[in-house]
Amino acid sequence: MNVLVVGGAGYIGAHTVQALRERGHKVFVYDNLSTGNLEAVPEDIHFFEGDIRDGDFLRHIFAEYLIDAVVHFAACSLVGESMQDPAKYYNNNVVGTLSLLNAMKGAGVEYLLFSSTAAVYGEPTSLPITETALCQPTNVYGRTKLAIEWSLADYAQAYNLKYTALRYFNAAGASLDASIGEAHPVETHLIPLILQAVTKHKALQVFGDDYPTPDGTCIRDYIHVLDLATAHVLALEKMVQTQQSAVYNLGTETGFSVLEIIKMVEQVTGLVVPYTISPRRAGDPARLVASVNKAKQQLGWQLQHSDLQQIISSAWQWHCK
Ligand code: UDP
Repeated sequence: MNVLVVGGAGYIGAHTVQALRERGHKVFVYDNLSTGNLEAVPEDIHFFEGDIRDGDFLRHIFAEYLIDAVVHFAACSLVGESMQDPAKYYNNNVVGTLSLLNAMKGAGVEYLLFSSTAAVYGEPTSLPITETALCQPTNVYGRTKLAIEWSLADYAQAYNLKYTALRYFNAAGASLDASIGEAHPVETHLIPLILQAVTKHKALQVFGDDYPTPDGTCIRDYIHVLDLATAHVLALEKMVQTQQSAVYNLGTETGFSVLEIIKMVEQVTGLVVPYTISPRRAGDPARLVASVNKAKQQLGWQLQHSDLQQIISSAWQWHCK
């Protein structure tokens, strides 16, 4: 297929671009480079610098390059910032996606694979979290992603659109050759921050040690970005084959606490992680662990890289490089 990856210069997008190409799809990348890195885009790929709110540009690309499917990563994704500046998040994420959907509708592009998040669930009522769990997001970022999922469902029932929403748990790790990794202009994610703490000798803040978990720190489900990328390829092909829309969780069904992650970083790097205990971060649920039965059974997806040591080793190699 001819696939347009919007947000393809970002961390998960760039890995997915690679996986789609390895599978033989013709890939085009569209990104406004607000947080993406041009170095993460292969040189021999057709790259368009543009914003998803630019419907005319998108329509032109859809028609000119006979795009069959869109994989959509373009979003603002900082939880804290989303609470302080909701306008930015509703504009970029929700208005932007509607612009993309309208351009697809106008051009007759039928398939959309959407990068969603476990943040749509909010505080879970039971674990592991299945796709049928109640969605009660506790922050603006999660609400924008859920609003998009609703618009996808409404467009799909009314127009000629099939969609798949992939709800990621905690993406982590880097490509095995250390060519692509997690580099955000403003870093808020745990594993890159721990690696920075190690190399810059600047204490990590552990947000809360009084949660109802065995060591008091939050538990999350960390999944290797390469396993996420593979799931995108399988989900896209499944959607086209079955002509059905779907929602899948992507995680590992295993949770690790913040202190367990710190210990694993110390084991992998042989260095001490300096940290202090800080107050809880607003909106952080104590535990988030996915059920991924559905993706495994329906997509034939298997985890290949998501052992915690592998995740952290790959992130560390990329960080050193
Ligand atoms: N965390 C932390 N210190 C930091 C950043 C994150 O203790 O400087 C914790 C955070 O409270 C959460 C976990 O690490 O429990 C993962 O946070 P991250 O922001 O990486 O992902 P999230 O789970 O929010 O999507």
